[in-house]
Amino acid sequence: MDRTSGDPLLLTPGPLTTGDKTKRAMLHDWGSRDQAFIDATRDIRERIIEVAGGGREFSTVPIQGSGTFAVEAMVGTFLPRDGKLLILVNGAYGHRIAKICAYMNRAYVVSETPEDIPPDPNAIDAILDAAPDIGHVVIVHCETTSGILNPVREIAAVVANRGRRLLIDAMSTFGAIPFDLTDVNCDALAASSNKCFEGVPGIGFVICRKTALLEAEGNAHSLSLDLFDQWKAMAGNGQWRFTPPTHVIFALRQALETHRAEGGVDGRYHRYSENCRVLLEGMRELGFEPLLSHNLQAPIIVTFRMPADPKFEFETFYDRLKHKGFIIYPGKLTVADSFRIGCIGALNADDMRAAVTAAGNTLLEMDVASGSPE
Ligand SMILES: *Cc1c(COP(=O)(O)O)cnc(C)c1O
Repeated sequence: MDRTSGDPLLLTPGPLTTGDKTKRAMLHDWGSRDQAFIDATRDIRERIIEVAGGGREFSTVPIQGSGTFAVEAMVGTFLPRDGKLLILVNGAYGHRIAKICAYMNRAYVVSETPEDIPPDPNAIDAILDAAPDIGHVVIVHCETTSGILNPVREIAAVVANRGRRLLIDAMSTFGAIPFDLTDVNCDALAASSNKCFEGVPGIGFVICRKTALLEAEGNAHSLSLDLFDQWKAMAGNGQWRFTPPTHVIFALRQALETHRAEGGVDGRYHRYSENCRVLLEGMRELGFEPLLSHNLQAPIIVTFRMPADPKFEFETFYDRLKHKGFIIYPGKLTVADSFRIGCIGALNADDMRAAVTAAGNTLLEMDVASGSPE
């Protein structure tokens, strides 16, 4: 990989390990009204639509902040003030959307499944049939809490068939899992600079259907998170309304260039899938067991059940792996005690092999015979 820093590798859900070219793209200062910066903003907005297979009926609206800012902006802008949102929850990021609605005082209902169970399109269809006041539905594509891939295409078909509108939190999949706006019917999709595009953290963006944006004027609860207003301003002079994260934009432009050179979404999907395969195989050999069955597992992040050996202490495991150059992530699950290892970022199969070797050596140091949860 294009990496020389020697920093520990981030095997996490983000921020992620980034390449040198991406980091080096930030070594300048730009004025926010400069043509070079305006051009860079236009480039990333257009490129992101292309990645999603969208045409002129869509527009990318970037927003300063982390991914959650983009999700909050999406919900606040597209959900009418007197509207009602159905939130499909099977993890922490779905719960966060409910919290966002509660803060904004917007009506919502939650349909929750356990963290290792995807929503059932037939069940969602029945809910929509029984509740004509639900105008919008939101789904998390990969629930990064567990790493589960939710059936966004099937849910989109059900929602469209009932004449309702779909919003998607595709934060941890966009750019790496094939997704086509001509195939998945939605009004908006939120993602960010620092996940599968491997940019640095600092902006979120929402791919918006323009006709839905035009209907959304006046919905937003917040000036800074109003996607309609941000879109209108950018459509006018190509500029951001408030101080943009200039360096983040240039890093993202380079990251998108690298993404294209790697073969776009297919190339990235291939690398991450290989990372995930190497990780799963190696960890299984050490006795560890993943939470999810193969058909539910997105090649984004893997949840492992906590080993049963009483000598296994997660904090010690974490610290020793960190000293060997690998940062992993604690679990966030309610269904099982667990920890997570990410497959995304500027990492390849050799890095994953090295991580597995480090995990094996750490077990030896801890005198743990197996990572088995039983
Ligand atoms: C990372 C992530 C977010 C956004 O998290 P931030 O910490 O605000 O960047 C939202 N949804 C999902 C599914 C994510 O993986």
